[in-house]
Amino acid sequence: MPTVLAVMAHPDDIEFTCAGTLVLLKRAGWGVHMATMTAGDLGSMKLSRAAISRVRRKEAGASAALLGAGYTCLGFDDLTILYDADSKRRVCGLIREVRPDLVITHSSLDYMSDHTETPKIVREPAFASTIPNWRASLNGKPAPPCSKMPAILYADPIENIDATGRRVPARLVVDITAVVEFKERMLACHESQRSWLRAQHGEDEYLLSMKRWSADRARDFRSKAVAYAEGFTPHLGHGFPRNDLLTKALGKRVKTLA
Ligand SMILES: [Zn+2]
Repeated sequence: MPTVLAVMAHPDDIEFTCAGTLVLLKRAGWGVHMATMTAGDLGSMKLSRAAISRVRRKEAGASAALLGAGYTCLGFDDLTILYDADSKRRVCGLIREVRPDLVITHSSLDYMSDHTETPKIVREPAFASTIPNWRASLNGKPAPPCSKMPAILYADPIENIDATGRRVPARLVVDITAVVEFKERMLACHESQRSWLRAQHGEDEYLLSMKRWSADRARDFRSKAVAYAEGFTPHLGHGFPRNDLLTKALGKRVKTLA
């Protein structure tokens, strides 16, 4: 059974950017594991860091459970995710435990440092996951090296725009119209964040924004039948697998753009 591992910075980033595709892969028989670098410890105006972290770990776990996916919080702190030896060893420990065929992470063009550090941190452990002399562990428990490197996909940045506000193109676009309600249910598991935004906006901006961004990416399909989509860009640098696992798994739901 092929396995996909999504590694994003904060609880709810996966749900915003790639949960629809995870649902489709799950239904196509894939194993799915979801991981967040932090527990979202700055995600509250009222609760302490420890208290909101407990709440948000639970919310992220509930979203993963809804999908039948595993969930790991890598234990870093909000706003201080750093590309260093510790972060690379911890992420590599996770990769060696999950042993994914495909890893999905943030776009390096995303709007904030936690989001742009994460793909750097993920990329090298993916490369090093097969190297026996590279020591890596999660929670102090070393895992044996992988037999092959996973392919890497960068998801759309938040709002499909870069830090200067320009719309970022995707290379692969996945039609998630059939599963957008499931994606919405996963996102709704993050009730602490949803209620915060609802209080600010007076409407359910949390879910509405996800649908708006997914509808924006669907425009790239140029088909009235496709109302919601998620975009991805493969990492095709030296040494990384270049096979298009998404199209192989999801067929016509995936459109390749020039
Ligand atoms: Zn985030």
